[in-house]
Amino acid sequence: MATDRTHPVVVIPGDGIGPEITEATIRVLEATGVTYTWRETLAGEAARVRHGHPLPEETLTAIRNVGVALKGPLLAPKQTGRITIRQADGSEVTYPSVNNALRRELEVFANVRPVKSFAGVRSPFPRLDVVIMREVTEDTYIGWEEMKGPDEAWAIKRITRRASERIFRYAFAYARRNGRAKVTAGHKANVLNLTDGLFLQCGRDVAAAYPDMIFDDCMVDALCLRLVTQPELVDVLVLPNQYGDILSDLCGGIAGSLGLAPGANVGDAVSFFEASHGAAPDIAGRGIANPIALILSGAMLLDHLGEMNAAARVRAAAASVLQEGRWLTPDLGGVANTAELTRAVVGAL
Ligand code: NAD
Repeated sequence: MATDRTHPVVVIPGDGIGPEITEATIRVLEATGVTYTWRETLAGEAARVRHGHPLPEETLTAIRNVGVALKGPLLAPKQTGRITIRQADGSEVTYPSVNNALRRELEVFANVRPVKSFAGVRSPFPRLDVVIMREVTEDTYIGWEEMKGPDEAWAIKRITRRASERIFRYAFAYARRNGRAKVTAGHKANVLNLTDGLFLQCGRDVAAAYPDMIFDDCMVDALCLRLVTQPELVDVLVLPNQYGDILSDLCGGIAGSLGLAPGANVGDAVSFFEASHGAAPDIAGRGIANPIALILSGAMLLDHLGEMNAAARVRAAAASVLQEGRWLTPDLGGVANTAELTRAVVGAL
């Protein structure tokens, strides 16, 4: 049963395949019977064309006011993606990419990415069921880079106790709430003794408050090996920003396609929901993108809105369509298009 509330939700269609999979996701979310007021706003290339800036102030304001958004992927050009945002006091802050700016301006701190394999989808690891908890406010992705002459470049890696303890607290609470048994810290504290060392120590400190949960840690290189040999040993995985970014794609690949990996960006005041994958410019406009990752991100949005029943129905519908195997997009080995797969999920609902 859906609640009788109407939920305002900001929608950012995004770049590349973004508009195609966003439209598909809205169709599925509407088919649950939950009601929404969609407030479309722009970011990325469409915003650059219309407003002269990839992340206009009105987009940030709309999301801050509503508190929840469904977001398509945004293009972030290589080497030249830095963007500057004017602050309320007139000062300016520069971020390394539009996605980085969006997360940090909206003060989200946890990027939650549950990645699992599905019956009906080819994967060497049918028992993959991992939740990646990626810290998204710091690490090397603060973008503090500098040329030291023409042939040398430096980047700062920033890890703080405040942000690290916050992501571990969120991960343990999530694990307990979702019946997960184990939390693993991924790091490289054998080389980055101080930065990743502090991250690991924060994991240990927070774990002490959760004696009912198993806590362990694993070096990020060994973690990659574990994920491609025994992924069933990995449950909730807490990672600094950069490792979390990289391992998300690895897990998507292990599940059978990046198009299966959803995500939520969670903050205290604002949360927004987006697939793990990017704008996939290589297949944009062809109508063959896999919408499942964004549809499952939509299920996370429904949970966030308190529509747990509808969220569970969306997950069950997506799983049953994948299992049936008749309407798989090319990334999943099928020949169906986005519209056909979406129609099948709506039908299953
Ligand atoms: P990508 O995730 O867009 O694509 C990687 C590969 O996976 C491509 O072959 C693509 O076709 C495929 N793929 C991804 N999603 C798919 C889907 N739903 N269905 C079928 N196939 C899918 O990564 P990329 O090519 O490295 O990046 C493209 C752009 O997206 C870059 O500008 C990058 O910065 C940006 N990006 C944005 C986000 C975001 O908005 N959160 C995340 C990652 C990358």
